[in-house]
Amino acid sequence: MTRGTHHSAKLALVTGANRGIGLETARQLAQLDFTVLLGVRDLAKGEVAARKIGGKVEAIALDVAAHDAAAHAAAEVERRFGRLDVLVNNAAIHYDPSARALKPDWTVIREAFETNVFGAWRVAAAFAPLLRASGNGRLVNVSSEGGSLASMGAGAPAYSTSKATLNALTRILAAELRGSGVLVNSICPGWVATDMGGPGGRPVAQGAAGIVWAATLPDDGPTGGFFRDGKRLPW
Ligand code: NDP
Repeated sequence: MTRGTHHSAKLALVTGANRGIGLETARQLAQLDFTVLLGVRDLAKGEVAARKIGGKVEAIALDVAAHDAAAHAAAEVERRFGRLDVLVNNAAIHYDPSARALKPDWTVIREAFETNVFGAWRVAAAFAPLLRASGNGRLVNVSSEGGSLASMGAGAPAYSTSKATLNALTRILAAELRGSGVLVNSICPGWVATDMGGPGGRPVAQGAAGIVWAATLPDDGPTGGFFRDGKRLPW
């Protein structure tokens, strides 16, 4: 059945995959026999992470906040594989719950948008041709209920507005990719015990499972939606 080439397994790229939810998502995809590329801003950390998972997993340089990195990474994937089956936009920064919109810290706000919004946007745009080439690509934007307008309240202004904007991007990308076989969804992993989430959250495996669900949707699966644990969330 397998041809012994890279094309025998599905190919996934997870950004921010050297720790936390990204690393666990990569691990679960590898268990499903995906070849997995760990998009990392520090290649040395990425190589350690890839060894931790083992199997067909390797690190690729991809600082999503750097302007040309996504294009370079996409060119390398194009050259080596000619397609991408799953893209998980996971990298994010600046969960700022105690900050207040009325005391804006523009440095934090700009950095949050550069990574959480423009980063995901750059990566999606650079890899869209390769997702189209897959024939049944899946694009997962790792968002947060913190980006839900329906439940938005005081605090975390940089993070929440960046995730709300990421959700808008999900809607637009889903529409622009409709008919290409590429399904685009926003996923909230829930509150997860990582460096970002802090102690007390649920196990990282549970958070990653909802992302893997969206990464492995059947061809008639949803697109342009917002989910946690496979259940719809209000925008
Ligand atoms: P962590 O802070 O634990 O990990 C973040 C990862 O993103 C790290 O690997 C980090 O790399 C990477 N990263 C940050 N900036 C960049 C960049 N410019 N380029 C490439 N990689 C980058 O976060 P989590 O694992 O908790 O979060 C993963 C996703 O889940 C995020 O999108 C987050 O918003 C979302 N989420 C998390 C929740 C939680 O409770 N944990 C709740 C809701 C959503 P490095 O090691 O180099 O810093």
